[in-house]
Amino acid sequence: MSQNSNHEAVLRVRDILALSPGGQPLTARGWVRTKRDSKHLVFFEINDGSCLSNVQVVFDNPAPDVAAELARAQTGASVVVRGTLEESPARGQSVEIHGTGLTVVGQSPAELYPLQKKRHSFEYLREIAHLRPRTNTFGAIARVRNQLSFAIHRFFQERQFLYLHTPIITASDAEGAGEMFRVTTLSPDAPPRNEHGAVDFGKDFFGRPAYLTVSGQLNAEIYACALDRVYTFGPTFRAENSNTTRHLAEFWMIEPEVAFCDINCNMDLAEDFLKYLLLDLLQGCGEDMAFFDSRVQPGLLENLQLVVDRSFQRISYTEAVEALSSSGRSFEYPVSWGVDLQSEHEKFLTEEVYRGPVIVTDYPKEIKAFYMKLNDDGKTVRGMDVLVPRLGEIIGGSEREANLETLEQRITESGLNREDYWWYLDLRRFGSVPHSGFGLGFERLIQYATGMQNIRDVIPFPRAVRSADF
Ligand code: ATP
Ligand code: MN
Repeated sequence: MSQNSNHEAVLRVRDILALSPGGQPLTARGWVRTKRDSKHLVFFEINDGSCLSNVQVVFDNPAPDVAAELARAQTGASVVVRGTLEESPARGQSVEIHGTGLTVVGQSPAELYPLQKKRHSFEYLREIAHLRPRTNTFGAIARVRNQLSFAIHRFFQERQFLYLHTPIITASDAEGAGEMFRVTTLSPDAPPRNEHGAVDFGKDFFGRPAYLTVSGQLNAEIYACALDRVYTFGPTFRAENSNTTRHLAEFWMIEPEVAFCDINCNMDLAEDFLKYLLLDLLQGCGEDMAFFDSRVQPGLLENLQLVVDRSFQRISYTEAVEALSSSGRSFEYPVSWGVDLQSEHEKFLTEEVYRGPVIVTDYPKEIKAFYMKLNDDGKTVRGMDVLVPRLGEIIGGSEREANLETLEQRITESGLNREDYWWYLDLRRFGSVPHSGFGLGFERLIQYATGMQNIRDVIPFPRAVRSADF
């Protein structure tokens, strides 16, 4: 509750809807979602983002000055409403405000307002990202993001993980493979050149090539190998030059890193983490989640509850390949031992073979990053991907290589320079310890939890190939 200048009680819509009606005076404010007139009655629905529902305001035979103000209060206008709280005869709501006074704070010309009462396509709403949070779906997404962000911190804080801030600008490519955005202050027209005619990044701001980070993992390993358990939660950048519904150029990633933790401990952490977040969301955002269940992804609630209640299936990459090749299904990308799993394979495994989340481990070393621990077979590494129905990969992680010689070997095999990783190798030289971690894409989690099809609709301002508006 807050006070406005007249010291009347201003309540948020969600608090108003939780009250029992008794004619008490109150003030509400927000944006007009709909308005309709019938004879001497004017009905309004007001939303202030505090919850999915609007509060209904009814004016019965308004005084002339109020009627004049009512005429200015079109859909989209911001208003302050004064009235009393009464029982509502209408279906689907227990209370309504009987309006006595109204102030239009900011008008919204009805014929120009881009949000009409009809249902707009998500494609259209992406073009008006400055107004889409005023729709039910995008208001709900914003509340879900908020709920999950907070739950992520709570999960780790309850387990004594330290929140670590890793750099956004980096001179190392964590994956050795990621498509990176360059950070430079050199002039694009006339960059300094060396004697071979190549751009001389020695003259650039950092004295060497620099990029936006694709992962905070290597930095997180430094802190895990000193403080035992840490996590990052921050923006990550990948110049993904493909137009998919699950890739952004800028996304948020959560990366825990834990010392004295092998791949089994890592899988347990990932499973506990996902279950904790989904349960917290079901409990904390019930109204919004019911909306996604009925309007976006039928069966969502039941589905997520099953994920919370049941154990994740754990299989090796080799078992996954066997399950796929013996399925009799013909895939666009044929499967054989050694190929990377494509999204169609991930969906088939989770939706048709195991009917729930699956953790796949022990991938061929050739298709995974150099830092993953080599198994005794010399062929596979202790990577683990968590796959979920509808989406495919949601988490990628591994036990890290803790042995100095093996790691040096893997860096060289991967075509990277040992010198570039001198500090990373030092962690194996001084007090090396088995350690593990994973990365969860925050937007993938929100897609999964809400059933939203396109990742561009679960982040307020999406950045993707040829798109960086707003
Ligand atoms: P994918 O095969 O789906 O591209 P990846 O193997 O590149 O994923 P990792 O490098 O393991 O992914 O990153 C960890 C997690 O970050 C992924 O499991 C996913 O949840 C998320 N992620 C990766 N790339 C993107 C992206 N471009 N946009 C949004 N989330 C992403
Ligand atoms: Mn990728």
